[in-house]
Amino acid sequence: MLGRVKQAKVKQAHFSDKNENEESMAKIFCIANQKGGVGKTTTTVNLAAGLAKLDQRVLLVDLDPQGNATMGAGVNKAKLSSSVYQVLLGMAKATDAIVRSDAGAFDVLPANRELAGAEVEMVELENRDKRLRSALDEVGANYDFILIDCPPALSMLTLNGLCAAHGVIIPMQCEYYALEGLSDLANTIKKVSANLNPDLKIVGLLRVMFDPRMTLSQQVSDQLEQHFGDKVFKTLIPRNVRLAEAPSYGIPGVVFDPSSKGAQAYIAFGAEMVDRIKALDKKK
Ligand code: ATP
Ligand code: MG
Repeated sequence: MLGRVKQAKVKQAHFSDKNENEESMAKIFCIANQKGGVGKTTTTVNLAAGLAKLDQRVLLVDLDPQGNATMGAGVNKAKLSSSVYQVLLGMAKATDAIVRSDAGAFDVLPANRELAGAEVEMVELENRDKRLRSALDEVGANYDFILIDCPPALSMLTLNGLCAAHGVIIPMQCEYYALEGLSDLANTIKKVSANLNPDLKIVGLLRVMFDPRMTLSQQVSDQLEQHFGDKVFKTLIPRNVRLAEAPSYGIPGVVFDPSSKGAQAYIAFGAEMVDRIKALDKKK
């Protein structure tokens, strides 16, 4: 039975009071795959909550008019005073639209159906692919990580996410058609990095909804490792019913049932991300 979606009060986010001069800007990641239902939102919400458990200051940006990440974080998308839509169109500042996910202990720049109109309305605007980037520039110093949940399309919204990010995390199911469409996404990322955002890189492929009992899952997973080597995250996210149940309570899976296998995997993934960032920073 579905739980009642928690009617979390939409309240102002907590901003850090740390001295901005001591701060570096947040590392920004897009969670993208134009295939639908591959675990983008589950990954974004649970990575956000996993990183928060590791004392990281996190902002989740919902770039999908479905508003699933917003609801999954416990923020009621029907009761927003402003959202990422107004921010993209220059009608609100990010700081005015950002709210707190008490359930997840991170901040949220939320979305709802209104955002579907932004695709068309942005066409007329200057720098339409960099609207999100400009908005996040203003709040980047308040966070360690900004995670952007993209819609299942290579659209203007996704392009805004890619232009704002340092890296892309690609969730994939280990199934026969997993690689289908990956080259389109990789080509889009290459074009964005060549023309619009030289910082942009694929950080890694994340294997999700993994079922170790299925030979096919194991085979596809092995193939991904052979083809993409280090670009495949070590952490495997298993198929786990607690992760699927959590959104209906408006609580991230890692908080809803922290001891479940799915929650443990996302916490481990958070730690892997923190390590990767440290390793990248050392290389610089
Ligand atoms: P969309 O393309 O529509 O935005 P998505 O890529 O964001 O979808 P999700 O919404 O995260 O995908 O997941 C699709 C469905 O699979 C959801 O019902 C979700 O609860 C479920 N799901 C995701 N990851 C897991 C998992 N590891 N174990 C079990 N169920 C999962
Ligand atoms: Mg989604």
